Amino acid sequence: MQCQEALPLMHEYLDGSLSRPEALELKKHLVACPSCRERLNELEKMEALIQAAPRPTVPDGLTERIMQALPPAQQKHGWGRWFRSHPAASVAVVFALVMLGSFMSAWNADSELMVRGADLQSVVIQGDTVLVPAGQTVDGNLTVENGKLQVDGDIEGNIVVIDGSVSLASTAHISGQITQIDEAFSWLWFKMSDWATHISQ
Ligand SMILES: [Zn+2]
Repeated sequence: MQCQEALPLMHEYLDGSLSRPEALELKKHLVACPSCRERLNELEKMEALIQAAPRPTVPDGLTERIMQALPPAQQKHGWGRWFRSHPAASVAVVFALVMLGSFMSAWNADSELMVRGADLQSVVIQGDTVLVPAGQTVDGNLTVENGKLQVDGDIEGNIVVIDGSVSLASTAHISGQITQIDEAFSWLWFKMSDWATHISQ
């Protein structure tokens, strides 16, 4: 007998459903095969553990009554089911869709030059160009949308240029990072991560 033939016989033996000739065959194999002896030993231990474990007492018919009381599973509304089983993710998805909608419309509406920053006193706007003159310091972040940013002076913060360009003179000094965003998608991505930073603070 091969080992792979012995294994199902061991299970039958543990179930008490092994016929006498089969039991003899198995015994012969076990005498000759230490690894199957070891395996049967393990199976017997497991069986004993299962037998010893306390069984939950469920009154007769209770499971059936509960199953019948439950409404039948909805097959039609796949999304609804998904939403119900992933409540946290659903909120995120709906939120992202709502935000996407408002950002896209905001994106289309913004075509005029916009300058944002905590300190705009030293910023000069000439047409569609935002100039930070040499010797001047902008104390904080500076965001320019739909325009050119020309930095000759200092910026103590980050620069974000959305759908525009940035040029730095040799006299320019920027303490933070320069982020240039030219496409609606990356702009959206920036807004999302910006928003995420805000709520995580
Ligand atoms: Zn064996």
